[in-house]
Amino acid sequence: MYRRLIVPGALAASLMLAIPASADGYSPGAPGIGDPYYPAYGNGGYDVSHYDLRLKYQPKTDLLEGTATILATTTQDLSRFDLDFGLKVSEVRVNGIRASFATSGDEELEITPAAGLPKGTPITIVVRYSGKPSDVKLFGFTSWARTPDGAVAANEPESAAWWFPSNDHPRDKATYDVSVAVPDGTQAISNGVLTSTTSQLGWTRYNWRSDKPQATYLATLAIGRFDITTGTTANGLPVVNAYSKDLDPATKDAARASVERTSEAVEFLEGVFGPYPFNAVGGYVPNVSAGFALETQTRPFYSPKFFTKGSNVSVIVHELAHQWYGDNVSVHNWADIWLNEGFASYAEWLWSEKEGEGTAQELADYVYAQHPADDPFWTVAPGDPGAAHQFDDAVYDRGAMALQALRNAVGDDDFFAILKGWQKEHAYGNAQVGDFVKYAERVSGKPLADLFDTWLYQPSRPASPAAEALGFKAARSVPQPRSWPAIARAHSGSRI
Ligand SMILES: [Zn+2]
Repeated sequence: MYRRLIVPGALAASLMLAIPASADGYSPGAPGIGDPYYPAYGNGGYDVSHYDLRLKYQPKTDLLEGTATILATTTQDLSRFDLDFGLKVSEVRVNGIRASFATSGDEELEITPAAGLPKGTPITIVVRYSGKPSDVKLFGFTSWARTPDGAVAANEPESAAWWFPSNDHPRDKATYDVSVAVPDGTQAISNGVLTSTTSQLGWTRYNWRSDKPQATYLATLAIGRFDITTGTTANGLPVVNAYSKDLDPATKDAARASVERTSEAVEFLEGVFGPYPFNAVGGYVPNVSAGFALETQTRPFYSPKFFTKGSNVSVIVHELAHQWYGDNVSVHNWADIWLNEGFASYAEWLWSEKEGEGTAQELADYVYAQHPADDPFWTVAPGDPGAAHQFDDAVYDRGAMALQALRNAVGDDDFFAILKGWQKEHAYGNAQVGDFVKYAERVSGKPLADLFDTWLYQPSRPASPAAEALGFKAARSVPQPRSWPAIARAHSGSRI
């Protein structure tokens, strides 16, 4: 998340080139899905519907062994296709038959099936692999974080390639069965519902199921010794929260005083965004040194750093808001990141408003006033920030201001109808910023292109008259809302 991928121009250009078809019309799938920020991410030629991951992990040695069974459908006549993966592969089968494979680039696993695969065919890919994920550097780093008692896979946008082969881009979502064997006494946490556990010969196997479409970076795995709390929401969803046993006791208490409010936050967010889209809720706090949080589907990841100075419900509300904005409706390209971060940040402001700790308008006024016109903050356009600025403060804070501007322009009734309706319109799918602008215009019946241009695309501070016309106070002496310290702490230092 805090790392920058630089794709050299020549590589980017070569990935854009059309690949010539062979004489029989079968051709290799593209090595990238076509994301302008990250040309090598994802692949072309097929669409995955399900990942079945059967894994075994030894915390002492960091050895991960796995068999991934991937169900997909071809989208072209395919002679060859890529998966994105970093560990060592020993065998690949396509439709039961051994396939040849090779590696190229940072993470391309090129698979050549024994025979061409006609367009529109369901295929089953089996990949056997093993390796020490913390030793594997892709793009110059590993996203696999070892902990004193295990490991964690959670990162954005790069996370999957260290623990399972995939079409690694949010545009290709799939369902997941993740089954992980770990030494007795150790637990494995993943997305969705824990369907069963079995124990045999010193190993305990945890079987997790995430049964709604899930982007690859939203799949997570945490292995370690956890204190686990379980429950059920008022709507009957299973809740699983997990806290590393070796967290500092005061930090753990503060973490519990935050994460255990997950059901309450989900209830609030359902009132704002509509019905919760998945089969389980929860969160986990492993003993990692990283400082960020991530909206891993149904079960967000929280660094303990959020809780070292006390509880913080703001970060909980943020990651849970992503279950709608980011997870249910995902970015089409990574350039669409405002659709995730602007909304999750605005949800924190709505929570503050509900708690009587400062309205969203007061927070917008305060943030606007904090950044004078010459602040570089304003040079990042949340609507298309560039890969190097994908997680800059502007995407979050100016992104949330854009939503307050929209709310003021269309009124509360239309604004909240837009927030809810968008979730139905694109449920379990992907969308672009431009789609949202058009959708907001459709629901409100108002032209909004200028407003979004001002708040999302201009590399400058919206002028005071324009801001004031939308209800913003341009004065520098805006009082600090009571919720601000917690919100600032949620956003400080790293991304969430
Ligand atoms: Zn976020």
